[in-house]
Amino acid sequence: MSLKIGVIGCGAIGREHVRRLTDLVPGAEVVAVADYFPEAAEKVAAQYGIKAYATGEELVAAPEVEAVVITSSDPSHAGYVLECLKAKKYVFCEKPLAQTAADCEKIIAEELKAGKRLVQVGFMRRFDRGYVAMKELIDSGKLGAPLMIHACHRNVSQPAGFQTEMGVTNVAIHELDICRWLTGEEYESAQVLKVRQSANSKGYDNPQIVLLETKSGVRIDVEVQVADCYGYDIQCQVVCENGTVNLPDPAAVVTRSDASRSFPILTDWKDRFIEAYDIEFQEWVKAVTAGKLTGPSSWDGYVACVTADTLNRSRGTGAFLKVETIEKPDLYK
Ligand code: NAP
Repeated sequence: MSLKIGVIGCGAIGREHVRRLTDLVPGAEVVAVADYFPEAAEKVAAQYGIKAYATGEELVAAPEVEAVVITSSDPSHAGYVLECLKAKKYVFCEKPLAQTAADCEKIIAEELKAGKRLVQVGFMRRFDRGYVAMKELIDSGKLGAPLMIHACHRNVSQPAGFQTEMGVTNVAIHELDICRWLTGEEYESAQVLKVRQSANSKGYDNPQIVLLETKSGVRIDVEVQVADCYGYDIQCQVVCENGTVNLPDPAAVVTRSDASRSFPILTDWKDRFIEAYDIEFQEWVKAVTAGKLTGPSSWDGYVACVTADTLNRSRGTGAFLKVETIEKPDLYK
């Protein structure tokens, strides 16, 4: 028996996930879709021979939908997650979980009422083989304690409407989660800095530097460059007491020619983390089927959101601000 899934949001990543869940994830069956733009849902529904609902709320309430994947635009996430929780349905929500800490707290309160984890957040880097190998090495203790992380998140360009704050809430949010996961630590304080600006961006800060300090004093710097004009380039180096560990570049052929050695750099996030998304959904479907979620939780979505808010509040103040969260409920320990 397959897990019957409804997908809300038929944009870029929604269509990718419908394809992935249909073609690559054992035990999964996408039975319904919805989108704010009805033609988008109807097109996907016709392609897969499934049902299109007029609204996300109708899809969540549909009796044949056992679990929901949310891939609509950021501002709609929290409302749909709450609908799913009220219906006691498992829900996978693309990042960010919500746009405000208050909405994340509502989600946590509703999940606590359910008495078990029902929400997973789309922090797919935790399933990337490179990051997983880094974490295993750090956790083994062979390199000693982590001291610093140098990371960078570079995108080729941004669509119209991109804003400075989204460089944190929508882009660097992946680093906010993965650095917490790699170190196994919570954040103490955060600051975002504006540096010399690139002529490649208009109307928003680019680059920005995100600075974080963990409770034990690990210092993290993340270069966020959202219009680099050359590639989708994700880098991460963890500096430990007895050595360093780097995120590997994706496999690529190396060409030797014209007295030079070169390899291509990917330009699209869909390709860069394609295998991580596949593994993420394979594990999510197994976990939902077993009734026990293990992937990134509402708490992880909440901490990322609080940290992103803190960073955005720090902009222009010249100060590190304390990252302040509610107490972690036992459900997430
Ligand atoms: P997109 O191409 O703009 O797709 C979003 C889709 O959702 C659009 O079809 C949009 O319709 C629809 N939509 C907007 N508001 C809605 C609502 N209230 N109810 C139902 N549908 C609604 O964006 P995307 O790149 O696929 O991103 C979607 C989400 O995935 C974002 O939250 C993004 O942060 C996340 N994402 C995550 C990753 C990752 O690495 N994990 C990568 C990419 C995206 P309209 O066009 O009519 O507004």
